[in-house]
Amino acid sequence: MHKLLQDNAGETLMLLGNEAIARGAVEAGLAFAATYPGTPSSEISANFFQMAKQSDLYFEYSTNEKVALEVTAAAANSGVRSMCIMKHVGMNVAADAMMTLAYVGVKAGLVILCADDPYMFSSQNEQDNRYYGKLSGLPILEPSSVDEVRQIMPYAFELSETLQEPVIVRTTTRINHSTGPVLLGEIIPPKTKGNFVKDPFHLVTVPAVSRNLHVRLLKRLDQAEVLSCESKYNFIHGKGPWGIVVNGVSYNYVADAVRDLGIEDQTRIFRVGFSHPMPGEKLKAFLQGCEKVLVVEEGEPYMEETIRALAQEAGLILPIGGKAPQLFSRLFEYDPAMVREKIAAWFDVALEPAVPLDLSDVPEIPQRPPNLCAGCSHRATFYAVNKATEGMATVKPNDIGCYTLGFMPPLSAGDFLICMGSSVGTGCGFSQVLDDKVISYIGDSTFFHSGIPGLINAVFNNHDMTLVILDNHTTAMTGHQPHPGVDMSNLGQEGYGRVSIESLVKGIGVPHVSVIRPYNVKKSVAALKEAIAFEGVSVVIAQQDCVLQARSLKKETGRPFRVDPQKCANHRNCINDLACPAFYMENDRVCIDASICTGCSVCAQVCPENAIVPVKEKK
Ligand code: SF4
Ligand code: SF4
Repeated sequence: MHKLLQDNAGETLMLLGNEAIARGAVEAGLAFAATYPGTPSSEISANFFQMAKQSDLYFEYSTNEKVALEVTAAAANSGVRSMCIMKHVGMNVAADAMMTLAYVGVKAGLVILCADDPYMFSSQNEQDNRYYGKLSGLPILEPSSVDEVRQIMPYAFELSETLQEPVIVRTTTRINHSTGPVLLGEIIPPKTKGNFVKDPFHLVTVPAVSRNLHVRLLKRLDQAEVLSCESKYNFIHGKGPWGIVVNGVSYNYVADAVRDLGIEDQTRIFRVGFSHPMPGEKLKAFLQGCEKVLVVEEGEPYMEETIRALAQEAGLILPIGGKAPQLFSRLFEYDPAMVREKIAAWFDVALEPAVPLDLSDVPEIPQRPPNLCAGCSHRATFYAVNKATEGMATVKPNDIGCYTLGFMPPLSAGDFLICMGSSVGTGCGFSQVLDDKVISYIGDSTFFHSGIPGLINAVFNNHDMTLVILDNHTTAMTGHQPHPGVDMSNLGQEGYGRVSIESLVKGIGVPHVSVIRPYNVKKSVAALKEAIAFEGVSVVIAQQDCVLQARSLKKETGRPFRVDPQKCANHRNCINDLACPAFYMENDRVCIDASICTGCSVCAQVCPENAIVPVKEKK
């Protein structure tokens, strides 16, 4: 049985933050979950996917976050505890549904788990999603540790049912991807079947209904603020005239810094774990006892703005520090040393410089730029497009996925990127105002997520562009999750349908559609030349399994290749145009690392001297 389904309350397990979230939800009686995968939240849904096969939990990978929220909203409004999981930028997609769902509310608990990514380890921005609480009127909970996130999940479902509103649990990468001891709680058996009671005057948001629902939402917000003040997740400890208000993972850094600086007797800490609505009255009382306050929060000055407003309301004049050039930044992640230094500076405490760790015996890790894997079919497709467009002025919008990594030279496959699905819409715009040829790239999963509306736009407005759909039959970047184009029977899964990208593209009226196998370079270049020469919308679907997934599914891959030194002219077209990471230089000659090479044969087709040949099998 899956380790997170075992009924072993009272035991302590070492869990990843994302596993602790999944376990906390199971303990709360979660019956229905949906997601579009996104790092740093992916392992939550990966665990649900496995658990769903061994329990009554229903889990689905939806086409995007808005759809995921819509399906969970329906389940929660039928009385079934539900959860919708996404990364921070996914909330921008879900926001359309979320803003009005806040008016409609829920009947059973609905938790929206949103994982923010300060420092953008795997994201296109580091937006601070606490503002979505303010914008939508939904409560936000923010745990500080892996153990606390397990505890906070059952509380989040209860809070959702008390307020009859979805509750946002906001984590950051440092919580999602840390491992720590987690004390397990009791599992409540899930209620998997619901009952939808028709009530159009509260559930159908025509203007006359929504006017009443907005009034109701504001009343629920008042109730939520009272609960925020009473919540055990908004707690104070310590005593003294100095105050620190802190949230999330920074709480641990602050607690350590106060101890290390020896200011425990002078400092009171207000840990905010229920951060929307902020606990106004409790914070005012806290501020009244302080001479000086520091707000420690990664991201935007979300708490600091509220605290300044509360101090003004309470008629308090005291220094409040937070975001400032010499203090905390709105950029990136914080770390313990930096938090200690800023606390010392603000409260004017002597700071013993930390003794640097002796790392002299640790070998230096070689820097390796992010790169597509050896044998990745996207490299072959980008190479083929570059060959097909030699001498042409081109603009190549790219999209979110592994293939984004192709933007680096020598492939240079990416001139513009803003968000999921944007390569198609921006391609339309570029084609209208530029004379350059526009070739947009999008992955298969991203195409289903949000590429389709852009392509419909291109067809309707007859834009002159080529869309290359990089179809590797999986959502590779976030860990090989399925999408509607995947043949699930290949993964040993039954009961799924399948949407053919080719039929879909033809169905929406794209006038020029071709399918290529990118490992066949010559045919791919010919098909791409034809598609790019076509005036109007053309789509090229480049189909080839993700090489990593093919390996993990034990599908047959080719024999590795080697460079025949007798034939090699050492002009290095292979390295300069293709740059497979299996290549390396030895004695100024190109070689191939057979342990990395997947035998895709693309370099052999690129080499004009036919110097790249398969390694002979050992007899
Ligand atoms: S492309 Fe062929 S001939 Fe040129 S350097 Fe590479 S292996 Fe040698
Ligand atoms: S065959 Fe060539 S391009 Fe393919 S993985 Fe091996 S070295 Fe890289």
